[in-house]
Amino acid sequence: MGKKGRDLTAVFPGSFDPFTNGHADIVERSLEIFDRIIIGILHNPSKNHLFSEEERVALISKQFARYGARVSVVSFSGLLVEFVESTKSRVVIRGLRAVSDYDYEAQMALVNRRLSPRIETLFLTAREEHSYISSTVVKQVALLGGDVSDMVPAVIATALTRKYKATQKDR
Ligand code: ADP
Repeated sequence: MGKKGRDLTAVFPGSFDPFTNGHADIVERSLEIFDRIIIGILHNPSKNHLFSEEERVALISKQFARYGARVSVVSFSGLLVEFVESTKSRVVIRGLRAVSDYDYEAQMALVNRRLSPRIETLFLTAREEHSYISSTVVKQVALLGGDVSDMVPAVIATALTRKYKATQKDR
């Protein structure tokens, strides 16, 4: 519980295709500060996804099952600020890996503030050992049969192996 018995909730939005150790670390660290974290999976029909929304919700929920109600995983479409307003939260969490993330992230935060001034974006810097990890890199390595077990949680590594085998069969 936060001050005055408040339930401090933050939303961590992203594509999470797939969810990596970098994402997991941001969630774990956010749980040190907030009472609840809502992991929001952005539904983006224009992006070609490896894992469907349903698969991502199921895998990420499994990863954080031990936190019970403190972590929830939902998918959303449309404006992030509208999604955040539909929750009890007014905080968006984003991770920053390198300076190269900054321009895009700062622009999004400014646009979101303009759209909804009461919502704040908080940035957590990636751990050094995770700063090279991106969903794109994980997908590339996994789909070529490489070992990604030190880049993603075990449930995701298993799911990636299954996907890899399925694509091999299709060939
Ligand atoms: P999006 O498509 O919204 O950028 P991602 O799934 O790529 O979604 O990333 C979600 C959030 O996690 C972003 O704020 C991103 O900067 C952050 N992030 C991605 N990879 C890492 C990492 N290795 N360490 C810490 N944060 C990360």
